Amino acid sequence: MSFSALGLDPKILQAVKDAGYTEPTPIQSAAIPPILAGHDLIGIAQTGTGKTAAFTLPMLTRLATVIGDGRQRGTRALVLAPTRELALQIDENVRAYGRHLPLRVATVFGGVGEHPQINALRAGTHLIIACPGRLMDLMQRRYADFSQLQYLVLDEADRMLDMGFLPSIRQIVRSLPQKRQTLLFSATLSKEIETLTHEFQHAPKLFQIGRRANPAETVTQLVYEVPKSLKPALLLHLLKDPAMNMVLVFSRMKHAADRVARNLESAGIRTATLHSNRSQNQRLRALKDFKDGIVRVLVATDIAARGIDVDGISHVVNYDFP
Ligand code: AMP
Repeated sequence: MSFSALGLDPKILQAVKDAGYTEPTPIQSAAIPPILAGHDLIGIAQTGTGKTAAFTLPMLTRLATVIGDGRQRGTRALVLAPTRELALQIDENVRAYGRHLPLRVATVFGGVGEHPQINALRAGTHLIIACPGRLMDLMQRRYADFSQLQYLVLDEADRMLDMGFLPSIRQIVRSLPQKRQTLLFSATLSKEIETLTHEFQHAPKLFQIGRRANPAETVTQLVYEVPKSLKPALLLHLLKDPAMNMVLVFSRMKHAADRVARNLESAGIRTATLHSNRSQNQRLRALKDFKDGIVRVLVATDIAARGIDVDGISHVVNYDFP
């Protein structure tokens, strides 16, 4: 199937072409037509499947007519995401796919000053991407108006539940118009997710792309059995291999992540850390330096395990059992 057969707006097709995509991924072929037809949808898919474009492209196609020349400013779409990093990544995607539209986007998350976000909301937006906590806060203070909302997306819904966002999500969704299209994406289909879909969706269609139990075929997996005390030395030893040029190390605990990073740094290996005790600016910097190749190793807790898409990672090290 080709993108042009999916019924997308010509301006969106142009942006897809600009992005260099030649054909839709399976979830895009499966999900775009029913989303364009107005159906609610549950997408069971992991990051890397192209799910962001799967919901963004049809949503922007529908919005293109409403937005017109851009003077129409009511918020039509809301995307909820669990982490700031994912919210920013969705923001980048939306801006890329919407680059030929006069689209106004605001992204809302905690841990940074609220004034730029409040100003963006005040100026009027068509689409808001948000983490539930900060959005709740701004909604209670009446900075967001969802009376014209048509589309709601819950991205990485299972992760949002794991992080305890259910009460905030419920409160947010309660204040949205009943008549809307709701799209839910999750890596797993659990009882809790089913409850959520009953509560928030209307006759949703279910798509399951790829099975979570199957590791990616292109990944070679190796296990090293080693006493805990020797893990730091083993990691340093492995990193002598220059092929390990862009390495993501997962650590279970924040303080252990800091320790691993200090150990690597003192051996002269440029390293950044990403976990929830770091400030938002430090987290953004760490991810950017890693993406740009300024640091060779990023040591992270599972805050980076979901939804983050970095090109060119050579190795992932599970320093602790994942
Ligand atoms: P996602 O699963 O949404 O995080 O997307 C994973 C990556 O796939 C992102 O880097 C996208 O830019 C890229 N991508 C999405 N759709 C396509 C496509 N149809 N062809 C090639 N790359 C794509």
